[in-house]
Amino acid sequence: MSVDSSVSKEVKPESVLLCPLGTTAAPEQKLLCIFGTGDLGRSLGQRLLQCGYRVVYGSRRPNSCGPLPRGTKAMNHEAAAMSAALVFVCVHRENYDFLEALAPQLKGKVLVDVSNNLKKNLYPESNAEYLQRLIPGAHVVKAFNTLSAWSLQNGPSDANRQVYLCGNSVQAKQAVEEMATKLGFAALDRGSLSAAGELEDFPLQLFPEWRMPLRVAVGLTAFFFFYLLVRDVVYTYVEQGKDISFRIMVSLANKVFPSVSLIMLALCYLPGVIAAFLQLYRGTKYRRFPDWLDRWMLCRKQLGLIALGFAFLHVFYTLIIPIRYYVRFRISASTISQIRENRTSVFDTTMAWRADSFYSMGILGFGLYVLLGISSLPSVSNALSWREFSFIQSKLGYLTVFFCTFHTYLYGWDKFLHPKSYKWFTPPGYLLSLVVPSVLIVLKLLLLLPCVDRSLTRIRQGWERTDPEDGSEKALLT
Ligand code: NAP
Repeated sequence: MSVDSSVSKEVKPESVLLCPLGTTAAPEQKLLCIFGTGDLGRSLGQRLLQCGYRVVYGSRRPNSCGPLPRGTKAMNHEAAAMSAALVFVCVHRENYDFLEALAPQLKGKVLVDVSNNLKKNLYPESNAEYLQRLIPGAHVVKAFNTLSAWSLQNGPSDANRQVYLCGNSVQAKQAVEEMATKLGFAALDRGSLSAAGELEDFPLQLFPEWRMPLRVAVGLTAFFFFYLLVRDVVYTYVEQGKDISFRIMVSLANKVFPSVSLIMLALCYLPGVIAAFLQLYRGTKYRRFPDWLDRWMLCRKQLGLIALGFAFLHVFYTLIIPIRYYVRFRISASTISQIRENRTSVFDTTMAWRADSFYSMGILGFGLYVLLGISSLPSVSNALSWREFSFIQSKLGYLTVFFCTFHTYLYGWDKFLHPKSYKWFTPPGYLLSLVVPSVLIVLKLLLLLPCVDRSLTRIRQGWERTDPEDGSEKALLT
């Protein structure tokens, strides 16, 4: 990279000391150019200065472009372009036209395109490819667009350490990579400039992996809410003329939340079981899963975390049961009527077992649920070995499904045998919520059968039923 000696060298000596640990300051401070004195240009300039670079700005108004980081200098675009071998284009794509006239000055230089768009697919080609088309003689590298001006100014943090880059020139990418590393970022090469569109879409993504789980959560919540509303509230009003609509706020909500939570927890583990059966059926692990299964597998963490959120709601709603007006009223009314009628109810050991087991399963299930949630936090999972992580997420995960499912079976007990539970011929809500987890548990138990488990292990170790060389079929169990 060429260094222009005509540009002021007033960089504070102490600023060089701010280089990230582990990197040594360059013996000669390299000069970099930034086009655009806006938010990103200024933050980037500040960060470059702190890491020992010299910075010169190319601006439309070099004499009145507002406060710039101390030690930098603003010039017109032409002079600035000629002063450095690497130029950051911190200007919106819509304003790139002026660059065309600078083609001779920018020839052979590395142009770093940091731009983003307001929407996906706004233009037929990516901003970086457009820039390359405007200045074919320059080496355009797409980089830094996934960082905000704020994060550049504050330095890399754990969540914001990566700089994705792409470009057609290996040397140009190396230069940008070196500089990003010096700024304390981890550079990740995403290939040629044709990948720029993908990088430009990164900052526009809005929780992409949460969309499907959130849709499932909203769909299930709406379904259970209306289903239980009709069965509990509307049915009682129509058939018995009683208005129990007040139950919507707590009783009904506390039936919806555990139902959604249990189904979503099961949905988190179901794709793994389906994938295992698919591998057994195909006799190989080397064939791709269908897209829907791939997508489902990729959002298991989100499904689990939303399920945990619903479980928390269930716990909070359950804790307030004893202080509810309705519950206190029912308990005191029943006590008073027993006293009046001189009646005592007999202690029911079966009921005591059922209630205690029900609560115990619920508490154990919730405890493990929380453990699963905690171990999915990056800071925790990073501290675990792969074996520890998969023990918690898989073994303890299935145990959680089992406890929570058993908790729900205990809640229903023998209610499913009573015809009056089937109001208007509909099964109770808890029974519906048991379908997916019960199917999951049965399928998982099938996979645990020694002969099935052995076959699956062999397939996962690379065994294939059809010989890839001669196409002959082999027996799985030998
Ligand atoms: P900004 O604050 O609006 O600054 C843009 C700069 O471009 C202006 O300060 C101006 O500098 C220059 N400019 C404006 N109109 C121009 C024209 N017609 N011809 C030539 N230069 C012109 O924008 P920004 O937030 O710094 O963003 C700059 C680029 O970085 C954008 O492409 C954006 O997508 C990208 N980006 C921004 C962020 C962020 O956090 N801000 C994060 C990632 C990527 P002069 O007046 O000095 O010429």
